[in-house]
Amino acid sequence: MRFPSFPTLIRTLNTSANTTIRAANPAFNVSRLYNSPQRATTPRSMPLPIIRALFGSSAKMADNTKYPVQKTEGEWQAVLSPEQFRILRKKGTEMAGSGQYDKHYPSEGIYNCAACSAPLYKANHKFSSGCGWPAFWDAVPGAVGQRDDSSFGMKRTEIVCNSCGGHLGHIFKGEKFGNPKDERHCVNSVSINFSKDEGSKE
Ligand SMILES: [Zn+2]
Repeated sequence: MRFPSFPTLIRTLNTSANTTIRAANPAFNVSRLYNSPQRATTPRSMPLPIIRALFGSSAKMADNTKYPVQKTEGEWQAVLSPEQFRILRKKGTEMAGSGQYDKHYPSEGIYNCAACSAPLYKANHKFSSGCGWPAFWDAVPGAVGQRDDSSFGMKRTEIVCNSCGGHLGHIFKGEKFGNPKDERHCVNSVSINFSKDEGSKE
């Protein structure tokens, strides 16, 4: 039995989830996610729950927190693009290596929440992790909240915008990238907007 190619599999999964997807990025290297190239040779080596966790959405996570910025689902849909809505409000994940800020390293400036414009990360918080998503080792104080995420059978820590509750990505600790806090905020490019002027949103 032949297994479909990895990009085909991803497209199939995302299509079945009724979501929009960009073409698979040729630079995308699954082995980076595992640090083990031999595990990425066939789709069989990457169980479906993990693929769904990486690129699907986990909208069932309940969040009863009262965030300062409150909108109904319809109001969010009116102000966000379909992809922003899928990721920020439905806790989806953009395709690795596809985001506009993945390899974006400005010397100064700030990344604001794409949903509510709250300042979240400074340019000097960003570092190159090679994981395929924007990586930050720290955030603007108080801007980002952490929540347990046990979706897809994995224990992870979700990070959200503390102003609107928008889903940003996940945080990983103890990976020894050599940053002062030894943390990696793995953030979807779709969830943030860069501004050169740090003072404009504060
Ligand atoms: Zn926000």
